[in-house]
Amino acid sequence: MHTLRLRPKEHYRIAEGHLWVFRDELVQPLPKISTEASGLPVDDLVAVESNDGKPLGVGFYHPTSKIAVRMLGTDTTTIDANFFAERFASALALRQRMMPHEEAYRLVFGEADLLSGLIIDIYGSVAVLQMLAAGMDRRRDMIVEALLQTLPHLTGVVERNSMKVREKEGLEMRDGIVWGTVPDRVRFTENGILLEVDLIGGQKTGYFLDQKTNRAFIGKLSAGKRVLDCFCNVGGFALNAAAGGATLAVGVDSSAVAIQAAEHHALLNELPNCRFEQANVFDLLRQYVDEGQTWDIVILDPPSFAKSRQALSGARAGYAELNRTALKLLRSGGLLVSASCTQLVPEHDLMDIIYTEAARLRRRLRLVHRGEQAADHPVLLAMPETQYLKFLVFDVLA
Ligand code: SAH
Repeated sequence: MHTLRLRPKEHYRIAEGHLWVFRDELVQPLPKISTEASGLPVDDLVAVESNDGKPLGVGFYHPTSKIAVRMLGTDTTTIDANFFAERFASALALRQRMMPHEEAYRLVFGEADLLSGLIIDIYGSVAVLQMLAAGMDRRRDMIVEALLQTLPHLTGVVERNSMKVREKEGLEMRDGIVWGTVPDRVRFTENGILLEVDLIGGQKTGYFLDQKTNRAFIGKLSAGKRVLDCFCNVGGFALNAAAGGATLAVGVDSSAVAIQAAEHHALLNELPNCRFEQANVFDLLRQYVDEGQTWDIVILDPPSFAKSRQALSGARAGYAELNRTALKLLRSGGLLVSASCTQLVPEHDLMDIIYTEAARLRRRLRLVHRGEQAADHPVLLAMPETQYLKFLVFDVLA
């Protein structure tokens, strides 16, 4: 096994548990690592040491990605199905302790489970794999074997590997069943609501497990209220609000497939107080303001607005516009629910943006609740990158 040496002082972050070694932190030139035709190393397991030769553990080396080594938080030299089975067992133990009896949960949240570049979601008897790193991608069979050891009740394993980030690791886009059989629609319950999600079909909707506890929270506040769920995907917050007794819950999303699934969910759960609309949220909110509509609760859960620092000012402007328009629709005593999954926009920034917009409209807000990603998406303190979901609830003062 090759040993890669860090430049002076670059070891602190890694020694404290951060799992990414960037290429420019390594002493150059690197030892000659033989590669396959694809350009990837024949054997990518490397040891990493500090500049003065102290061992820091092992990881998967990538020859071109900006993240040169993804550390595994161990110094074992055998990475096999047993290694993964042990990690999966401890990941499962955490989920069972923090959120027992869930049918759908994230079993492995990449770095936060010391498995950089690997995501595994469980929906009843089906597992969904996502590999964002070459080191994980090439070990897919090993991972599936370990997964079946950990969760013997599984009947199918799907891979959903068409995320753009895979390009950074030279990986192709690939989706489909990798083991067993998977129904067209996988059924599961979340917060007592029956859902059916297409995990393999051509037009995928997927599902966002990270908002589970926040959706339940909204369900409890909704009795007798008019609730507007912006960026509703397959119905998430709107369904919880309707089940919680909202007089009306309206969900809006630009994806026709998502809206179709959301409408199906409303029928499935017998929630006639729930409606869905396919529209661009930015346009629809403006239209509602022009029509003089008022709402008791407005939920904003947009997709990530910035994956890179260059996109940050646009992201801030997006949040400002959304929150400003939502505030115009809220009656006094109403609730503004503002979520953001943009990792690069920290909570205090989001709060600042909302405060600025509220002040311009001369509306006073009180922060009454803050949520975060559910416990199956834990935050590894050594890696701020693992904390991304903000969920702020404000009361609009009269
Ligand atoms: N609230 C959802 C998750 C939202 S994910 C839940 O609880 O599950 C973000 C959603 O925003 C996606 O479904 C995407 O289709 C939608 N979207 C992205 N841009 C949009 C836009 N401009 N208008 C409406 N929907 C949009």
